[in-house]
Amino acid sequence: MDKTRTIIIGGGFAGVECAATLTRLARDEHEVVLFNDENHLVFSPLLAEAVGSSVNPLDVIVPLRQLLPGVFCRTESVENVDIEHREVEYQSSGGEVSRMHYDHLVIACGNVTNLNVVPGMADHAFPLKTVGDAAALRSHVMEQMERAEVCNGQEKKCWHLTFIVVGGGFSGVEAAGEINDLVRSSARYFHNFRKEDVSVILVHSRDQILPEISPDLRDFARKKMEKAGVKMKLEARVALATPEGVGLQSGEFLKGGTVICTIGSSTAPVIERLNLPKEKDASLLNRT
Ligand SMILES: Cc1cc2nc3c(=O)[nH]c(=O)nc-3n(C[C@H](O)[C@H](O)[C@H](O)COP(=O)(O)OP(=O)(O)OC[C@H]3O[C@@H](n4cnc5c(N)ncnc54)[C@H](O)[C@@H]3O)c2cc1C
Repeated sequence: MDKTRTIIIGGGFAGVECAATLTRLARDEHEVVLFNDENHLVFSPLLAEAVGSSVNPLDVIVPLRQLLPGVFCRTESVENVDIEHREVEYQSSGGEVSRMHYDHLVIACGNVTNLNVVPGMADHAFPLKTVGDAAALRSHVMEQMERAEVCNGQEKKCWHLTFIVVGGGFSGVEAAGEINDLVRSSARYFHNFRKEDVSVILVHSRDQILPEISPDLRDFARKKMEKAGVKMKLEARVALATPEGVGLQSGEFLKGGTVICTIGSSTAPVIERLNLPKEKDASLLNRT
């Protein structure tokens, strides 16, 4: 008897949880195939800790095969879904395009970073979505401290030590807190700068950070962060990013050597290409 095949696209929290649940089905009747771009799950809530050197970047990822025994994990990207023929089209490791039939399909591919939401952001800001992003940002923060150490002018030194984080959701708040702790606590190992030279600025469009949590908790988080030295720029929208810092819609310019962008995400391309009505798809909504 042919097994019933479920294909899951995406090995993030949603795809992994779904695959783990489906492995409870009888294996001689049911097959679970999981496609993910990479062979590991990224534990995103710890990415900021990897930036701040509180944890090793490699401890933020978990191999999918270890997590999901019994699931056929394929490190390949699904390019298209052929709903009519119940097939996914994917790029195999050799580069050629292959197809695989499914009986059931789960699309759990999250969203993709889109820094194009603000002019200049893609060129001058760091994203924080993958473990590679966290490692790159961590080494950049270290480099900024090294540059500040050998820099002559006070203004330039403070520019190297100013970190602007755009977005007051989980990732922005965590990144700001971690960078603030890392740089301020490292000051004692350097000769040429002090804690007072360090600025971490969190820019957020609303009047309160962390919209996902209760007002009491977000107020507590804001006060804790301010006490630690993080400056809050609330009800402020970034209008452009440049090599020197960011310009706000109000006309104010914040100078700083590092910009981290945690806003801006788009629908995953494989969903974008699906020829089906989508929630919040303005073009399709207008047609009806
Ligand atoms: C820095 C950071 C901190 C966060 N902190 C928190 C927090 O503290 N609390 C909280 O609740 N949330 C937090 N979040 C949000 C949380 O991580 C996301 O809500 C969650 O990861 C979404 O899970 P997902 O499985 O839907 O998507 P994802 O985790 O994005 O996983 C999708 C996976 O699918 C893969 N994929 C996409 N398209 C394809 C394709 N075509 N073919 C194959 N594979 C594909 C991707 O590579 C990815 O591995 C944070 C996010 C970030 C970035």
